[in-house]
Amino acid sequence: MSPPVTAAIALGSNLDDPEAHVRRGFADLAALADTRVTARSALYRTAPVGYADQPAFVNACARVETRLGARALLEGLLAIEQRHGRHREVPIGPRTLDLDIVLYGDAVIDEPGLTVPHPRAHERAFVLAPLLDVWPDASIPGRGKAAEWLARTSGQQIERMAP
Ligand code: ATP
Ligand code: CA
Ligand code: CA
Repeated sequence: MSPPVTAAIALGSNLDDPEAHVRRGFADLAALADTRVTARSALYRTAPVGYADQPAFVNACARVETRLGARALLEGLLAIEQRHGRHREVPIGPRTLDLDIVLYGDAVIDEPGLTVPHPRAHERAFVLAPLLDVWPDASIPGRGKAAEWLARTSGQQIERMAP
């Protein structure tokens, strides 16, 4: 088994009671083999980016300690998405649950089907704000401090939900 790695997983949903999907998503992450959830962010309501004609999203982030390799972790995430009934009809369209590996330790991975850090995380307030809840000094390898990137995302609508 590999030594434990701290990873950040972004959760997002905008279909069929998004808040419930995200809350169940946290529980599903906690049930992954060889993985512990060590912090859960607040939930955020965020306006859709890119493909605007769809419901608002609920976004969050989990910090995990995992002994799964990055590829095995991704496979676990994709299996959870499937159990939430996710279908990929519109590439950036509505979804019941989206789970992305934002950070996997300080690893830089660029393989078919797996890019870490997530290549668009640094420009998305809906990823950075929850990430900073669970990992205040997070640094994105090759990019720098997550907090500094969040400061540059002014204009993206994101609202912290009541606990
Ligand atoms: P975006 O990547 O812009 O957030 P998305 O999450 O909607 O878009 P998906 O359709 O969920 O995109 O993912 C497409 C593929 O991205 C996945 O099947 C997976 O193989 C790949 N992928 C590459 N890097 C990652 C990563 N760091 N985390 C999750 N999936 C990744
Ligand atoms: Ca995503
Ligand atoms: Ca995804």
